[in-house]
Amino acid sequence: MTKEQVPATTSDAGIPVESDEHSLTVGPDGPILLQDHYLIEQMANFNRERIPERQPHAKGGGAFGHFEVTRDVSQYTKAAVFQPGTKTTTLIRFSTVAGERGSPDTWRDPRGFALKFYTSQGNYDMVGNNTPVFFVRDPLKFQHFIRSQKRRADNNLRDNDMQWDFWTLSPESAHQVTWLMGDRGIPKTWRNMNGYGSHTYLWINAKSQKFWVKYHFKTDQGIDFLTQAEADALAASDADYHQRDLYESIRRGEYPSWTLQMQIMPFDDAKTYRFNPFDLTKVWPHGDYPPVEVGRLTLDRNVSDYHTEMEQAAFEPNNLVPGIALSPDKMLLARGFSYSDAHRARLGVNYKQIPVNAPVVPVHSYSKDGVMRVRNVSDPVYAPNSKGGPKADTEANQPNYWYSDGDLVRSAYTLHAEDDDFGQPGTLVREVLDDAARDRLVSNVSGHLLKSVSEPVLLRAFEYWRNVDKHLGDKIEAAVRAGQPAKPAARL
Ligand code: NDP
Repeated sequence: MTKEQVPATTSDAGIPVESDEHSLTVGPDGPILLQDHYLIEQMANFNRERIPERQPHAKGGGAFGHFEVTRDVSQYTKAAVFQPGTKTTTLIRFSTVAGERGSPDTWRDPRGFALKFYTSQGNYDMVGNNTPVFFVRDPLKFQHFIRSQKRRADNNLRDNDMQWDFWTLSPESAHQVTWLMGDRGIPKTWRNMNGYGSHTYLWINAKSQKFWVKYHFKTDQGIDFLTQAEADALAASDADYHQRDLYESIRRGEYPSWTLQMQIMPFDDAKTYRFNPFDLTKVWPHGDYPPVEVGRLTLDRNVSDYHTEMEQAAFEPNNLVPGIALSPDKMLLARGFSYSDAHRARLGVNYKQIPVNAPVVPVHSYSKDGVMRVRNVSDPVYAPNSKGGPKADTEANQPNYWYSDGDLVRSAYTLHAEDDDFGQPGTLVREVLDDAARDRLVSNVSGHLLKSVSEPVLLRAFEYWRNVDKHLGDKIEAAVRAGQPAKPAARL
């Protein structure tokens, strides 16, 4: 660009500034003047550049893309976004969970897989992870779980003793911890991992028939992972390895994609299914509900301003469109409140007006005023009214959920025939992993336990792993007692 083509610097009010380099002083060596409004504007803006980081899922990145429906699932949902041939613009954010905003991408942790579909019926968000299950099944334990994975109060250090203390006192964590300590606990790149809705949701078709569903976004790049040693080396040499990989691959025109498959359960099966279908620590075995293909998600556009398009992106499980609803999963119901509450705390009450969070359809809500409101409000500001204000279409938008009654209690879910905390992780270890993957699991767990885990917690940890699989638990104890992580088999 020649000098003439470069725009002249202005203040934030659009007023041409006198200098990019020199503050206003009394003589070249004199004091700086308070009336240098541009200098003060620059300093004030700089001091406020960082906004509170997310708690948790602080470190992440993502991209824009589109979702294209390739099969006909209209018999299960009337949602416009899933009707045959529909193509919808999307935004995705991948993240780690426990690390802070500058932490290494390759720490062992689940990865967030948060999606926003800008649909013709308003924004639909699916806030998932790269695992189909989670550590706890009741939202009262969520905050405690996250605190146990982050930092101690006294020395501000992360602490394996704290992590295992919580996990071994919460046996429902065994499935997710087995997954986390296995190969998929550190994906090679974000492109090489699956995304799962994890929770059970409700789909409703045009005839008001209802189905329980689970979302599986299967990577088209193939699953790949990093060993602990590879991940440790990358954490030291390139903390932003996953973020860089996604950005560079899209910039090269290599657009990653995922095929969406759904597990679909007839509504009435839920009562008698062998597992509680709303328990977030359980999967539905594929043999019971085989996945049905729906469409393809492709990422094809990098964000151009990380702060406005990614750091301020706000995903929430309660952004649901007609034809998709929540299920009685307690974790999901609580997330419906806590995500929007987090966004109000971080970004302000009008966060849905930030362009990346705004829908592509017109908004006719009665929300009014508040900090940073930029969309005009017009009268009437109340409903019902006789002044031409928006009116809910109750005929077209009938509530369509599930039946519930009972005493107010604090208790776990009602038990289904095969509900227990160790059965499914045991299946994963014995029937899905091969010998080499099992060896790496033993190595990863024993290596983790050897870092400052106290004796009473260690004893519980050995028992926890024996409950998953007797042989596995014995091997983990032997490796820890020998004082060094079991040596994993060489990677093929
Ligand atoms: P299947 O044999 O039908 O499916 C096994 C699943 O395990 C596949 O989806 C596979 O994913 C995944 N998998 C393969 N390697 C690993 C690994 N190292 N860590 C985690 N997952 C892996 O069996 P079932 O459906 O009967 O499930 C058996 C066990 O598999 C479950 O207890 C659960 O732990 C695990 N699993 C089940 C899933 C489900 O939704 N049913 C989903 C993922 C895991 P892929 O096809 O992408 O290779």
